[in-house]
Amino acid sequence: MQQIVRDQIAVITGGTSGIGLGMANAFAAAGYHLAVNGFAAPGEAEALARDLEQQHKVGVHYCPADLAIPEECAAFITEAQRHFGRIDVLINNAGIQYVAPVEQFPTDRWDAILAVNLSAAFHTTRTALPGMQQRGYGRIINIASAHGLVASVNKSAYVASKHGIVGLTKVVALENAQRGITCNAICPGFVLTAMVQKQIEAIAAASHVSVEQATREFQQEKRPSGRYTSVEEIAAMALFLCSEGAGNITGACLSVDGGWTAQ
Ligand code: NAD
Repeated sequence: MQQIVRDQIAVITGGTSGIGLGMANAFAAAGYHLAVNGFAAPGEAEALARDLEQQHKVGVHYCPADLAIPEECAAFITEAQRHFGRIDVLINNAGIQYVAPVEQFPTDRWDAILAVNLSAAFHTTRTALPGMQQRGYGRIINIASAHGLVASVNKSAYVASKHGIVGLTKVVALENAQRGITCNAICPGFVLTAMVQKQIEAIAAASHVSVEQATREFQQEKRPSGRYTSVEEIAAMALFLCSEGAGNITGACLSVDGGWTAQ
């Protein structure tokens, strides 16, 4: 059973959808106060924050920062620190995808993916670290991917960004190994979120097959367990990394991928 934490502050980027939203729910249920960001329809994120507050009796602060912009990454962290007084847990989760062969890959998509999936984590981490170092405590979790460990065709920017964040994770872990701060990467396999749904629908449309058939063909080799990883399973791993038992786990890449990268 998950221990209930009181008065700890967790920051989650991209907390308005998919894995980030699942982690926001799980951390709020575990008693964390939250600062979340991410895109959403007008009023939707604020309503989500109020729901979490009422359901779990924690404080939830929403900030609509665009993490493709370095100044907004830093401002989000500064705002969260000002709102709650400190940050105990930073989860770099926001991410985007685009699929095309290298020679056709639009350069603006390359820049956007590197900015959101990799550079944003650098900007949030460098802003959050001094406070964590001062207090001698911090948990930094980067949501990388199986694509941080292995590659797939047509995903050059995504694979490069995820390999990059695995490298960043290790450096942050080493630089802070004796300061009470851990930094780890979670490497999910396929989780059925908006990001993956879009890819499968595009494949189904391009190959004139059903979404079910596209799922089987597209993901056969990448899901030895025969199913998607759930957002709850990713959230459970993130919560474990914040538990006392995980205090000496740092610089690790933890696969939650149904066996994909064991092959
Ligand atoms: P998602 O599309 O459901 O959620 C992405 C979140 O990031 C949203 O809240 C979105 O608003 C936010 N975001 C995107 N661009 C942003 C920007 N410029 N500024 C602020 N927020 C921004 O996707 P997801 O599947 O939940 O993915 C979450 C993370 O998990 C990503 O880093 C992704 O690469 C990673 N991941 C996902 C899978 C999967 O199969 N779904 C597998 C491995 C890793």
